[in-house]
Amino acid sequence: EPVGEPAGVLKRETEGYAPGPAGTARINATLLALVRNEEVKGMVQAMRDLERTWNHKFNYPWTFFNDVPFTDEFKELTSAETNAECHYELIPKEHWEVPSWVNGDLFHESTRLLAEQDIQYGEQVSYHQMCRWNSGLFYKHPALANTRYYWRVEPNVHFFCDVDYDVFAYMQDNNKTYGFTINLYDAPQSIPSLWPETIKFLAEHPEYVHDNNAMEWLTDSQRRPEHNKQANGYSTCHFWSNFEVADMDFWRSQAYEDYFNHLDRAGGFFYERWGDAPVHSVAIGLFEDSSKVHWFRDIGYQHIPFFNCPNSPKCTGCVTGRLTDGDSWLHQEDCRPNWFKYVGMG
Ligand code: GDP
Ligand code: MN
Repeated sequence: EPVGEPAGVLKRETEGYAPGPAGTARINATLLALVRNEEVKGMVQAMRDLERTWNHKFNYPWTFFNDVPFTDEFKELTSAETNAECHYELIPKEHWEVPSWVNGDLFHESTRLLAEQDIQYGEQVSYHQMCRWNSGLFYKHPALANTRYYWRVEPNVHFFCDVDYDVFAYMQDNNKTYGFTINLYDAPQSIPSLWPETIKFLAEHPEYVHDNNAMEWLTDSQRRPEHNKQANGYSTCHFWSNFEVADMDFWRSQAYEDYFNHLDRAGGFFYERWGDAPVHSVAIGLFEDSSKVHWFRDIGYQHIPFFNCPNSPKCTGCVTGRLTDGDSWLHQEDCRPNWFKYVGMG
């Protein structure tokens, strides 16, 4: 069953939180998109949704990243969608290229095996690069050196609900590190050694584990759907990171820096297909106070094939409580109930 919206929850959410009227000072934050020139139409569509429902009230800047230079067409079409500043940034080569310690033959053979197991994008080298960049490199881009919070936006996503408060100010005022909308299980074959590597790291660095961690959520084995198993101790439940509102101070912490470097050296971004979603989720679940994670129940969102659709008159264009289109097996992929069971509604 899709996750329904508990009655009254939306009201409670914003009650007692009274951000200044639109147009008051912005905090140190940006909307952030890694995107290809060819995806300009989808980017314009996603911007149009987010500008209409939220950003036209606040005018947070947009920062676009690409591994090749943005075209004039991309810049013209995207900047026309907002009154806010737009920045177009090239990713430094050393942040994008496959690192020198990755063995080319082993990578090639691994991707073949991933493809055999029907792991989506397993054979696409750039997908591995993208996941690694989103995991441990984006916040190191010089263009973000003085920026603290970001809201990640992908081309073709949808936003359905009017949001009247400053989401970034909400994060800062309530001391939140990480905000999500959707929680899903991952394909265990894409991350078989992520948890074993994490355990090795924890043996070296037990001091990084937060007292109020979400270990039970990470290691839950009760509610895993029958057709898919845990990934060697990790439930695979993760924050779906194509939507992500977060505080880069966490990624810039020594704990996360050491963890990312450990994972990077282990090679699983290439020999397996570790996504930035499970990597971010495991790190947040272990090293951060789980009360600093916030479910944005009030932000109506879709990235195909999943929705977060609140029960609110402020939302149009999605079906309340529906997780995915139609009557599909994909419903079983929802693991938000696990987060609520172990950590709560936040
Ligand atoms: P999915 O959501 O896992 O199906 O993956 P996507 O194809 O949506 O990629 C995730 C994000 O990374 C999207 O914002 C893409 O536009 C972006 N992306 C993926 N690969 C590349 C790439 O090679 N170059 C650039 N510039 N962006 C990429
Ligand atoms: Mn996507």
